[in-house]
Amino acid sequence: MSYQATHDPLTGLVNRREFERRLDEAMDSAHAEEAVHMLFYMDLDRFKAVNDRFGHQAGDKVLIEITKVIRSMVRVTDLVGRWGGEEFLIILPETDMDGGFSLAEKVRTRLESAYLGKIGHRTASFGVTAYKDGDGIEAIIARADAGLYAAKRGGRNRVEKVAVVAEAASGLSDSAESAPGSLR
Ligand code: GH3
Ligand code: MG
Ligand code: MG
Repeated sequence: MSYQATHDPLTGLVNRREFERRLDEAMDSAHAEEAVHMLFYMDLDRFKAVNDRFGHQAGDKVLIEITKVIRSMVRVTDLVGRWGGEEFLIILPETDMDGGFSLAEKVRTRLESAYLGKIGHRTASFGVTAYKDGDGIEAIIARADAGLYAAKRGGRNRVEKVAVVAEAASGLSDSAESAPGSLR
């Protein structure tokens, strides 16, 4: 498929459709190799306010700058996708929960301290979860989204982990409450 069909023109990141395809592949490889992959879901905090105050073009510039920050912090084997407006999903292959959490924390603190010209500083919230055997892409994204929802509800500029609990052992699913709606 062409670059245009698979990438977001603003940020140059892979678009949602391509990200879904690659996530599906990553989950197949996790299953085959018994590897642990992490997924994180990142959403900029109060981004509407940036557009309202500084205009949509300034908002777009911030998205480009933030993309650079994220890209500079991940490995070449990690995949950053633009999931929607100001929402990013990132696959970290062969990374465990501790590694995924600490990277999300690093990105969070780097963003918080990045000076974006007249816009000043912006923050983001994150939901982080690990691949679990039998996951489909909807399930893993829903877990990461539940973490993100918890991070937003908890005051924003936070990372929330969603633990993978073996269903056979506990009879329960994940530790974070599922989001009844969305803040976004
Ligand atoms: P929250 O902390 O709850 O995430 O608040 P928020 O304002 O970020 O959330 P909300 O979902 O209400 O708004 C997201 C906003 O992001 C809506 C829109 O103004 C802005 N946005 C989405 N896509 C783009 C884009 O491509 N360019 C620009 N400039 N703004 C965008
Ligand atoms: Mg937002
Ligand atoms: Mg959003």
